[in-house]
Amino acid sequence: MNNKDFKYPDTAAYNFVIKTLDSKGITPEMISSMAYDLQRVFFPNLQMERVRKATTDVLHKREVLNNAMVGLELDRLATEGKLKEPLQSIVMNDSGVFGVDEGIALNIANIYGTIGITNYGYIDRDKTGVIKKLDEEKDGVSNTFIDDVVGAIVSAVSAKVAHENN
Ligand code: MG
Repeated sequence: MNNKDFKYPDTAAYNFVIKTLDSKGITPEMISSMAYDLQRVFFPNLQMERVRKATTDVLHKREVLNNAMVGLELDRLATEGKLKEPLQSIVMNDSGVFGVDEGIALNIANIYGTIGITNYGYIDRDKTGVIKKLDEEKDGVSNTFIDDVVGAIVSAVSAKVAHENN
C-alpha cells in the first residue's frame, strides 16, 4: 500500500549500499579508479578529482541506490540460503539464462544514457580487476548481482564523466 507520508530514506539507502559494497571489498575509490581507466583513453587530461566527484554523485542517486539495494540483498539472501526454490538454486549457481542481474545493472547503467549502456557491455565482457574476482569467487557465496551492480555503477560514472567532457 502506498503511503503518501513515507519519506524516502536517502541517507539510510546510501549507507546501506556503501556498507554492503565495503563488506565485499569494494570502495568508492575503486569505482572511481575503474571509471578513470575506462575514460582516460578518450580524455587524456582527465582529472581523477572529476571522476571522484562523479562517483559521489552517482552513488547518491535514488535510481542507483534502489537497484543496487535489491541486487545486493538478493545476493545476501541467496548466500544465507533464504530464497525459495527454484530461485535459490538459480541465483546461487549464477545461471547464465537468469538475466535479472543484468537487467538490474542496465537500470543503473542507463541513468546517463547510451554511453553507460555501452560501457556496461564492455565491462561485462571484459570482466576486469575486482569484477573478475567477484565473478570467480565461488565458495558458497552468491556474487550473482554484485559484479553487475559494481560494473553498472562504474559504467554510470564513466558516462557522467564523458558527458561532462563533451
Ligand atoms: Mg552476474
